Amino acid sequence: MTEHQGRHFLQIPGPSPVPDRVLRAMDMPVIDHRSTQFADLAKAVFAGCQKIFKTAGDIIIFPSSGTGAWEAAIVNTLSPGDKVLMVETGHFATMWRQMAARWGIEVEFMPGDWRHGADPAAIEARLAQDTSHAIKAVMVVHNETSTGVTSRVGDIRAAMDKTGHPALLLVDTISSLGSVDFRHDEWKVDVTVSCSQKGFMLPPGLGFNAISEKARTAAKTNRMPRSYWDWEEMLKPNASGFFPYTPATNLLYGLREAIAMLLEEGLDNVFARHRRLAAATRAAVTHWGLEVLCLEPSEYSPVLTAVLMPPGHDADKFRKVVLDNYNMSLGSGLTRLAGKVFRIGHLGECNELTLLGALSGVEMGLAAAGVPHRAGGVDAAMASLEGRTESNSPPHLRVIKT
Ligand code: PLP
Repeated sequence: MTEHQGRHFLQIPGPSPVPDRVLRAMDMPVIDHRSTQFADLAKAVFAGCQKIFKTAGDIIIFPSSGTGAWEAAIVNTLSPGDKVLMVETGHFATMWRQMAARWGIEVEFMPGDWRHGADPAAIEARLAQDTSHAIKAVMVVHNETSTGVTSRVGDIRAAMDKTGHPALLLVDTISSLGSVDFRHDEWKVDVTVSCSQKGFMLPPGLGFNAISEKARTAAKTNRMPRSYWDWEEMLKPNASGFFPYTPATNLLYGLREAIAMLLEEGLDNVFARHRRLAAATRAAVTHWGLEVLCLEPSEYSPVLTAVLMPPGHDADKFRKVVLDNYNMSLGSGLTRLAGKVFRIGHLGECNELTLLGALSGVEMGLAAAGVPHRAGGVDAAMASLEGRTESNSPPHLRVIKT
């Protein structure tokens, strides 16, 4: 492996690069977490989070990874033996299913091909059949990070409403929040599960549950043992800006700054930027003659693009060539997709030039690894970013306006 200069290109779909502004905000002495100074920080962070989750309700922040926040959602709302409906969108939906099963939940897992999102019509049909209301919750992953497919949570909510079914709606927004439009209150989501190291542009270490009144009521009567993850234990001290145990103080400084950055840019602009970068990435992939894993254009992920390798070529060997030569990390294929796809993350602190640098690394890597492709994908991405079509305006014919 050669010595590299400059910054490492962390183009995995999370953890995403941490902006310098956030790093500086965290570069603070640790303060007493029982002081008024801490309470002011915590209150500011709770209020800021409400804007990002789009809720007026409670948000709980655990010192944990996203997996901890998954567990908190389960143990606070469900009871052993409860039945839930989940959808096999990919690796992460499968992992969440396994966790639910370990907690004694009976999971009905709607099969999927890992190339489409959760189908609102199929959920509606299944809930309509469940006239006895045996299904206690619908649990879906908003942005399936293993496949680059974003499910339409607003449509799923509308489908649930059509049936009048009372199931809770639990949504994993671990890789979507802060990058893709998400509306906890408007979509009547009961538990939104998220974490710090993706759209929030923070290091790993914070897990979130945004909770509805209905979820909080369910938590009062459910029969799952819990201690660390107990919402009520958290909410009591949180009301005055405190935690029942030692919070991740410096990550909260970072969170306050990251929220300020997202709101300064404007959430709609943040989402539009992600969509623009994703479209440019797909333009490059298509030009190379490679295949985007997601098959449904309305479900293309703004956060990442999973790319299928041509048969006979190993995605992990290719990723190693890119890492060794160009100091860039790309996401690997997970479980069933291992070796078959690589994933380009384009989330968080990513702009046009970062993306073009990353795509250049992919294109040079394809050449270096001997993967068949058509050169010029980066040009196609530039064309997409500039809003022109490649064929009708080749770069060398562009008119320079003086
Ligand atoms: N859910 C999704 C959609 C994810 O992308 C991830 C991690 O990448 C997880 C769950 C697990 O989160 P963590 O690794 O922070 O525990």
